[in-house]
Amino acid sequence: MEKLLSKKKVLITGAGSGIGAATARLFAAHGAELYLNARDELSLAEVVAQIQHDFPESNCEVIAFDVSDPDAVKAGFQTLFKKAKSLDVLVNNAGILDDALIGMVSAKQVERTFASNSFSVLYCSQYASRLMQRSGGGSIINLSSIIGRVGNQGQAVYGGSKAAVIGITLSLAKELAAAQIRVNAVAPGFIETPMTEQLPAEKYQQRLDSIAMGHIGKATDVANSILFLASDMSAYVTGQVLGVDGGMLI
Ligand code: NAP
Repeated sequence: MEKLLSKKKVLITGAGSGIGAATARLFAAHGAELYLNARDELSLAEVVAQIQHDFPESNCEVIAFDVSDPDAVKAGFQTLFKKAKSLDVLVNNAGILDDALIGMVSAKQVERTFASNSFSVLYCSQYASRLMQRSGGGSIINLSSIIGRVGNQGQAVYGGSKAAVIGITLSLAKELAAAQIRVNAVAPGFIETPMTEQLPAEKYQQRLDSIAMGHIGKATDVANSILFLASDMSAYVTGQVLGVDGGMLI
């Protein structure tokens, strides 16, 4: 198998479970030097142990910090710089889901969701792009969502935070292109991860019924698209939003 990420230094946020963990595993198989982030060091240690077991050659380290806290992001990137010295790929994957009808939404919920899902993308991209500029370019992949493109009832906060990710992606793509830094987004539909396990049975079935291909997506389906955008296979692709949703009509 051709390794698509040999010698590439990669930071994946939210790599402790779901799409982030699946992406870390796939990237390890493709020869990346990995730096894995989330808040819970225990879940990250499990992901690292599994990767090191399955890919003994892989170089995989934990950098735990809260992506919604600008000071913590700064300290996290200082640690990354000490360890890696440079960065080729950033996957802004960390995110939270906290649904509520608009009448029930609290200010705390709005602040927490936007800080975790949108502000985090700005904070991490700022430091990552500085590192990438120094080494001649790179690739940033942001996790948006189908809800950020078409909306859904009860998801004004989450949908708004994920629509913001698209605006950030398009602007950064234009701003950073001259520095050979590509910025793209992936917009998953309904993917089987700990995030979607929380959904009540009725909502789960409604989402499933709205998928033209008739089945829920796997974390590896999204990871494969992220791999494409991270690798030189997409060397001339920037400012795109790639839907990975099985034809979801929600
Ligand atoms: P998940 O299984 O809940 O994983 C989310 C990861 O993000 C965890 O490792 C979590 O670890 C980390 N995280 C959350 N807040 C963080 C913070 N403030 N700082 C650092 N890490 C943080 O979710 P997933 O389903 O894989 O989703 C991954 C991304 O895809 C998210 O951005 C999500 O919105 C997006 N997405 C998912 C779906 C889907 O159907 N699953 C659909 C569309 C978009 P800690 O709690 O330990 O920090």
